[in-house]
This record gives sequence, structure tokens and C-alpha cells, in this order.
Amino acid sequence: MNDDCLFCKLYREGEHVAAADGFVAIRDINPQAPVHLLVLPERHVDSLREIGGFPPEETQRMLEFIADVAAREGLRDYRVEVNVGPGAGQTVFHLHWHIKGGWA
Ligand code: AMP
Ligand code: ZN
Repeated sequence: MNDDCLFCKLYREGEHVAAADGFVAIRDINPQAPVHLLVLPERHVDSLREIGGFPPEETQRMLEFIADVAAREGLRDYRVEVNVGPGAGQTVFHLHWHIKGGWA
């Protein structure tokens, strides 16, 4: 946990669309699709570059949680995005997964 990190704070106190052991989903405050969710792990790493800091079973559960959240939101077709580094558009330096869908 990082006291200065927005997503560590939202993990603890945010409004969650879904939650599982070690992961939550929230709605993006500035949606770029009809449905735009963010999946946040409780474990703070700055970006996907540090994915090696996750135990393999946690990574597996995180990916399953992403798919579960999308399904529970009624999304059949959707996009999952991770921005890695400012040059790719990352603005919050706590690993997160964008789920975008709901176009059709
Ligand atoms: P990224 O640009 O990949 O780092 O994604 C950060 C995302 O967090 C952006 O899509 C923002 O709209 C979103 N965001 C920033 N602040 C909040 C907040 N307080 N609640 C929900 N989403 C947020
Ligand atoms: Zn954090």
C-alpha cells in the first residue's frame, strides 16, 4: 500500500462495481466507452512492467476477475487495455486494467 497513490486509496474507500479477494473494479471517472471499468489489484506495483512482483496464482486470479467483471456487466465483446508508461498514456502509476465495451 502506497499512501500517496490514488488507486491504493480507491481500493480501500472507493465505490466498487465488483470485488474479489485482492481485486476491485471501479467505473472510470472519464469514460472512453459506453462501459468503461478499471480493475485494480490491491497489491501496488507502478505498472505492468512489475508484473513479476505478483505471485503467479494472483496473476491468474486477476485475469479471471477481469473476465468475470466483464461478463457480470453483460459485456460479450470488449477491449482490455493496459497503458504502460507516460508515453503510452499511463497517468496513474498503480497497475490497472481498462475494460471497455458496450458499443453494440
Ligand atoms: P491510465 O491513463 O491508463 O493511467 O488510466 C487512468 C484512468 O483513471 C483514466 O482513464 C482516468 O479517467 C481514471 N481515473 C482518474 N481518477 C479517477 C477516479 N477518481 N475514479 C475513477 N477513475 C479515475
Ligand atoms: Zn497504489
